[in-house]
Amino acid sequence: MNHYDVIIIGGGITGTAIAHELSKFKLSVALLERGTDIGIGATKGNGGVVHPGYDPTPGSLKAKINVQGANAYPQLAKELNFDIINPGIFVLGFNEADRAALSHKLDFGIKNGVRDLAIIDAQTIHAREPHLSEQARFALYAPTATVVDPFEVAIAFAENAAENGVAILTGQPVTAITKTATGFVLTTVRAQFSCGYIVNAAGNHADDVAKLAGIAEYTMKPRHGDLLVFDKDMGNKPQTVMFPCPGPDTKGIACIPTVHGNTLVGSTATMKDDKEAVNNYAPGIQALIDGAKKIVPELDTRKIIRSFAGLRPVVLDHNNDFFIAESVTVKGFIHAAGIQSPGIASAPAIAELIRDLLDNAGLKILPKANFNPYRKTKTVFSKLGIAQQDELIKKNPAYGRIVCRCETVTEGEIVDAIHGIIPAQTLDGIKRRTRAGMGRCQGGFCQYKIIAILSRELGLPSEEILLEDIGSNLLCGSMKGGALT
Ligand SMILES: Cc1cc2nc3c(=O)[nH]c(=O)nc-3n(C[C@H](O)[C@H](O)[C@H](O)COP(=O)(O)OP(=O)(O)OC[C@H]3O[C@@H](n4cnc5c(N)ncnc54)[C@H](O)[C@@H]3O)c2cc1C
Repeated sequence: MNHYDVIIIGGGITGTAIAHELSKFKLSVALLERGTDIGIGATKGNGGVVHPGYDPTPGSLKAKINVQGANAYPQLAKELNFDIINPGIFVLGFNEADRAALSHKLDFGIKNGVRDLAIIDAQTIHAREPHLSEQARFALYAPTATVVDPFEVAIAFAENAAENGVAILTGQPVTAITKTATGFVLTTVRAQFSCGYIVNAAGNHADDVAKLAGIAEYTMKPRHGDLLVFDKDMGNKPQTVMFPCPGPDTKGIACIPTVHGNTLVGSTATMKDDKEAVNNYAPGIQALIDGAKKIVPELDTRKIIRSFAGLRPVVLDHNNDFFIAESVTVKGFIHAAGIQSPGIASAPAIAELIRDLLDNAGLKILPKANFNPYRKTKTVFSKLGIAQQDELIKKNPAYGRIVCRCETVTEGEIVDAIHGIIPAQTLDGIKRRTRAGMGRCQGGFCQYKIIAILSRELGLPSEEILLEDIGSNLLCGSMKGGALT
């Protein structure tokens, strides 16, 4: 049985950020993820806005962690080599009631330590956003706000953690936890592991995982949210993240420019019982379109290329705050639970807080002299100049074969992803790492080619290639014409 100082349960942005933080120290660490890949829970179903921190109530854990996390992003993007843009946020005001609400948010933001916030007038917002509704009269402006691709960030955290010695183990759902004299024994469907400390970052299942260790300190329910993706060539594109005035449980339906040049519209917010229900609902889609058109009335809904949904992990009766603490009943078991929005923005700071909680719980945390903060760069063919592309193709002709036409992704990049540090083993795993299948045709032209490449590289029949989860096989027989050649 392999032994680790710390085992992290859950490979979303929270778990991977913690793995990255702990990889800086002389510790043996493993991350156990139940899915076939990391970043497939709430982390793959969100807006990717690094909220600067004017929303949380001053004094709450969320307020402190949100601002600290958001401030860490620009430097992390440099070290871990992930995309980040800085469009800023407008929280729009349409009437006098909104003005009072925005002043309140401005006050929250100042108290929370958010930099450069201001209420700006109609002329300024319309000059920057010519397609914005005439009804918008003013806005709270947060110029420091950034946007990232959340699963790119989770993959970057995990890859750098792995490069620095953390064992990132997918396909390992934790099904039992036993307390021992010196720590814990964890059972998954494949193996047993022992450790001194557990960090529970299991997203919507954090309460279920806690129960495995006999802990019943909170109950969770998911808050469902629908989102829409618009094609890159959409007209009337917003340049700024634009929210309406927020409600009590939601920031409202926003128009969000993405790092890849698409526009997102999201999100709805509805409490659900089912922790796996990531389907879209027709009323939700309609609410998104209505909400977005209040902001950009000429929004072209014919340019919608995809809808998706996510589930925010909410701890009930906890003032919508995060639940990050050592268990009061089982020592050495640390909760990183209830990481609802802004969990992406907060992840780097949650990781630092978990490090401190482990320290307080008695774990010896000593810096590792050979920690390498820089993630290995990957080849992104479409971002290279013609001369570099030629050079690359000469070295490896697979970079000369375009598989995804919409996003210009080559066979070489897909093969790199399959054999990467955290290998992509599924169609969606390839999509998240390379963007193959993310464009206008949504895989219509390239899906069968990627299945063939996965089948060839993994040595599996194409019927065994999965979309994502176990059981999500894409084919039930061999394909006409066979593999990509
Ligand atoms: C619609 C929507 C919009 C959002 N927009 C934003 C935004 O713009 N900005 C922002 O900052 N935040 C946003 N969020 C919030 C953000 O997505 C979450 O806070 C964040 O993704 C939570 O990450 P996590 O790692 O805690 O959970 P998850 O990503 O759910 O990860 C938990 C992981 O634990 C694994 N797991 C569960 N049980 C087990 C087990 N027994 N054994 C092993 N592994 C297990 C799961 O498979 C999963 O991969 C949004 C959320 C939603 C739903």
